[in-house]
Amino acid sequence: MTNKNDKCYVCGKPATTRDHIPPKCIFPESKDIPGTKYRDNPIIVPACVEHNCSRSSDDEYFAQVISVVWGNNDIAEKQFDTKILRSFNKEPTKSIKLANGWIDVEIEGGISTKAIRLDDNRIKNVMTAIFQGLHFHEFSSSAKDEVAILPLFSTSGDNSVNSAVNSAVAQVIDSAPFGEYKGANPDVFKYRYVKSPENTQTIWELTFYNHAKVYGVSSSRDD
Ligand SMILES: [Zn+2]
Repeated sequence: MTNKNDKCYVCGKPATTRDHIPPKCIFPESKDIPGTKYRDNPIIVPACVEHNCSRSSDDEYFAQVISVVWGNNDIAEKQFDTKILRSFNKEPTKSIKLANGWIDVEIEGGISTKAIRLDDNRIKNVMTAIFQGLHFHEFSSSAKDEVAILPLFSTSGDNSVNSAVNSAVAQVIDSAPFGEYKGANPDVFKYRYVKSPENTQTIWELTFYNHAKVYGVSSSRDD
């Protein structure tokens, strides 16, 4: 499946396997939403064994979290009701882990609801791999491990911080000349990017299930 000269998109060592960007588990299987082919034409990058297999439980955790973001389309809901509930039934400790993160919050208008306290390290682990994977896919070069990440689907407990961060980000993003959206299954995942003026960094915008957004900044290892 890999060419002899393929190098791992993370570390540059010889690649013996391939990694899905973003993780395959966020794309519904045809059996769960009949008539759809959300797993067709995935973005695949060469990887060494270490960087393909090290994240699998974090990928699954991310798939759980991203499927329950308020405001997502109904594909996310379907994915939760099928694949994710199946995995909970098989291994109840997974749902307990996610449930332990639930907290009561009040959103705009004084509405009480639930939010998940995220395991930041696990989310960061997955997001870093996605940004590095997209960087490699677009530019055929590895990105540094230090990827700046701002997930807008999560919020800090302090609402004044959230709105300050969100409005600062919104201003930058509104004025950023992003390229066209890419991704073969845009209702599940799409992305677009723009290079910094000095061409040294790339600003990425990821959209999951037509709603949940994550921004990141990557730079090439060679720069
Ligand atoms: Zn590697």
